[in-house]
Amino acid sequence: SKENGSNSYQFYTEDMHKRALERLEIENCLRKALEKCELSIVYQPRFNIRTGYIVGAEALVRWNHPVLGSISPSVFIPIAEETGIIHDIGKWVLYNACKQTYYWYNNVDTDFQISVNISAIQFQRDDLVDIVKKVLSDTGLKPTMLELEVTENTIMQKTEKTLNNIKELKEIGVKISIDDFGTGFSSLSYMKEFHFDNLKIDKSFIQDIGVSYSNESIISAIISMAHSMGMTVVAEGVETEYQLDFLITRNCDEVQGYLFSTPLTAEEFMFNYLCNDKI
Ligand code: C2E
Ligand code: CA
Ligand code: CA
Ligand code: CA
Repeated sequence: SKENGSNSYQFYTEDMHKRALERLEIENCLRKALEKCELSIVYQPRFNIRTGYIVGAEALVRWNHPVLGSISPSVFIPIAEETGIIHDIGKWVLYNACKQTYYWYNNVDTDFQISVNISAIQFQRDDLVDIVKKVLSDTGLKPTMLELEVTENTIMQKTEKTLNNIKELKEIGVKISIDDFGTGFSSLSYMKEFHFDNLKIDKSFIQDIGVSYSNESIISAIISMAHSMGMTVVAEGVETEYQLDFLITRNCDEVQGYLFSTPLTAEEFMFNYLCNDKI
C-alpha cells in the first residue's frame, strides 16, 4: 500500500521481527560465551573522597563476540537473567574477580574490597551462600575483602530467602551494598533490617548535580540518613569536578566514576593503581 500508515506499520513489525531475531541470536551466543571464553572482567576503582586513596574496585563483566562485537551488559545481563544463564555467568564473574583480587592481595591494603554485582534472581536461590563460601575457600580471598552489590529491586521482593541469604553472607564476613539507590521505591526505613554496609547512590542523581536542585536535596538527605543508619555512602558515575566538590561538601564517603577512571582490564588496573595507590 502507498498509505503512510500501513508503511509505518510494516516497518514497525519488520523492526520488531528483526529485534526478536537479534535477541534470539544473542541468547544462543550467550549460552556458548562462557565455554568459548568470550567473557572478561574489567575493574573500576573506587576512592575515599577525603584521602583520595583507592579503597576498592567494582568488577564489571564484558562480552566480546567474534561476529556480533562487543555487547553491553545492560543488553545481555537482562537476557541472562530471563533465561537463567545468569547463574553460570554470575559464578564465573565471582570466582574470577576473587581470584584476581587474591593475586593482587600483596599489593593492596587489607581493607581493599572487590565489589561484585549479584542479580536479584541469584538471591532467590538456596545455593548462593554455598557458592560464595566455595569461591572464597577455592581462591583464598578473605570474606571481608568481598562486597556483593545488590540492587534495590532485589530487596523490594523481600522474600525470606533473600533476607536469609543476606544475613548468612554478613555472618561469614562478606560486605553487602545496596546498588543504584534512589531508582526503586524502597524507603530508607524499609532498608533498616538489611543492615547494609554501603549505599551506592545511582548515577542518575549524580548527573543532576548542578542541574536539579530537588535531586541535590535528595542526595543530601540520602547521605545523612544512610550515615545515621551506619552505612558508608558511595557516589557512582562521578564525571566532573563540580559533582565531586558538591559530594565533598555533603559528606559523601567514597566516589567512583569517569572523572577518576573508566573500568580497566586487570593489567591496566594493576599498572595504574597497585603500584602507586593515590588518585
Ligand atoms: P552498575 O552496577 O550500576 O555499574 C555501573 C555502570 O556505570 C557500569 O556500566 C560502569 O561502566 C558505568 N560507569 C562507571 N562510571 C561512570 C561514569 O562516570 N559515567 C557513566 N555514564 N557511567 C559510568 P556497565 O559496565 O556497562 O554495566 C552496566 C550494568 O550491567 C551494571 O550497572 C550492572 O547492573 C550490570 N552488570 C555489569 N556487570 C555485571 C555482573 O557481573 N553481574 C551482574 N548481575 N550485573 C552486571
Ligand atoms: Ca554495581
Ligand atoms: Ca550502580
Ligand atoms: Ca545501574
